[in-house]
Amino acid sequence: MKRSLRIAREFHWEMGHRLPFHESGCANIHGHSYRLRVEIEGSCDENGMLMDYGDMKRLVMPVIDRLDHCFLCDDNDELMKGFLSGSGLKHVIVPFTTTAENLVFYFLDELWNIFTPYPQVTALRLRLQETEISYAEAERSRES
Ligand SMILES: [Zn+2]
Repeated sequence: MKRSLRIAREFHWEMGHRLPFHESGCANIHGHSYRLRVEIEGSCDENGMLMDYGDMKRLVMPVIDRLDHCFLCDDNDELMKGFLSGSGLKHVIVPFTTTAENLVFYFLDELWNIFTPYPQVTALRLRLQETEISYAEAERSRES
């Protein structure tokens, strides 16, 4: 009998952004208290562990720390790039509009690369919570 299970850990950070294309509030500079639930699927070792939660934290935190208290800036947003350039303010420029949907795919790519060296991990599922009432989810598995 082959069984699999999922374990998850949640990560929190603060980040500013704006959606230049948006026709109402989201075009303004604002921020969110983001939460990312990182869920991995796989099988347990002889100690009954898929992965140590501490190891999950150590693997994921560099990706979170890079974004914490930054302004996430769409590379097409010339207005913000002009303001941020040389300002000394923490910002990260990405080649996409900073919607929750694009952001969860960004994390999926980053974290998939980090988790693939661990053969016991067969799938990765992410839930990116932008507000208390809205989220985007994405997943990837070894089979696809
Ligand atoms: Zn927003």
